[in-house]
Amino acid sequence: MTEWSKGAAWMAGEVIPIGEARIGVTDWGLTHSDITYDVVPVIDGAFFRLPDYLDRFEASLATGRFDIGMDGQAMTAALAAMVARSGLRHAYCAMVAARGTPIIPGSRDPRGCTNHFYAWVVPYIHVIKPEVLAQGARVWIAKDTHRIPPDSVNPHVKNYHWGDFTAGLFEAKDAGFETVILTDHDGNVTEGPGFNVFAVTGGRVVTPERGVLQGITRRTVLEMCAELGVATEIRAVPLAEFMAADEVFLSSSGGGVMPIAQVDDRLFGNGGAGPLGLRLSELYQDWTRRAAHRTAIPYR
Ligand SMILES: *Cc1c(COP(=O)(O)O)cnc(C)c1O
Repeated sequence: MTEWSKGAAWMAGEVIPIGEARIGVTDWGLTHSDITYDVVPVIDGAFFRLPDYLDRFEASLATGRFDIGMDGQAMTAALAAMVARSGLRHAYCAMVAARGTPIIPGSRDPRGCTNHFYAWVVPYIHVIKPEVLAQGARVWIAKDTHRIPPDSVNPHVKNYHWGDFTAGLFEAKDAGFETVILTDHDGNVTEGPGFNVFAVTGGRVVTPERGVLQGITRRTVLEMCAELGVATEIRAVPLAEFMAADEVFLSSSGGGVMPIAQVDDRLFGNGGAGPLGLRLSELYQDWTRRAAHRTAIPYR
C-alpha cells in the first residue's frame, strides 16, 4: 500500500510516494553537502508566495552554478503535480538542486557533474511546535559554536551545511532548551536552524543584516511592519542589545512568526509572547490567506 498522506517526491519527471525517493551514495549533494534548496509552504491547499520562493531558488542556482535544465514554469508544474498527488493541503514543500556525480568517475572538477533537480513534500513542519510556543518557547544562545562566516558558505544560498546548527542544537537540547540562535565572530546575533530572528527595541523591529538567509517570512515580517506603521531596521544586532530587547521573535516558513518567551536565563514579557510578536504572528496567518499571495494547486 502506498501512503501518499506521508508525502510525495518528484524525481526525474515522476511523482512517487516519499518512502520510495532515493538519491545515490556518490552524489556530491550527499558527499559534499553540494546542494541548494528552498522550501515553500502549502497553506490551506495553495502555495504561499511561490514566485518569491522560486526567485530566491533561481538566484541560489545561479550563485551556486547549478544547471538543472528547468525554468520556473517547469518547476512550478513539477511542484504542483507532486503536491496535488500527495493530497496534502498543509505542507512543507522542498525543491532541491544537487551537484550530482562526476561524468568522469573520481573527477574533482565541479564543472563535470550532472546536476539534477528533485522535490519532496511532507505534512507541514513547525520549527517550534505550536504547543511549545503556547507554553513559552525557550531559546539557547550557542556558546561553543558560531555561525559559519558568510565569506565561507554564502548564507543567501539556502544550503545543507548544517554543522554549526547541529552542534548548536546539541548544546541547546543538553541545556534543556527548545532551539538555538548562533552569533557571528563579532558577537552579533545571526539566525538559527531554519529561522531568522528579530528584536523589538525602542518601538522598532530590528533584524540582522549579515550572515543570514534572506528569509521570505523575514520579508513578510518587514512588509507587515510597514503595513502596521512599525519602523524596521536591518543592521548588525549585538547580542547585548538582543538580550536587552523588549521582545524577541523568530520567522520561518515552518511556523510563520514565533514569539519567544525566554533566551538563556532572560525572560521576555514575563515568560509569555510579546504584544507585537503576537500581533505579527496573527497577521501572518491572515497574509497566508490573501488571494494575491496564493498559487492554486490542482488537486483532483
Ligand atoms: C529557511 C531558512 C530560514 C527561514 O527562511 P524562510 O524563507 O522564511 O523560510 C532562515 N535561516 C535559514 C538558515 C534557513 O535555512
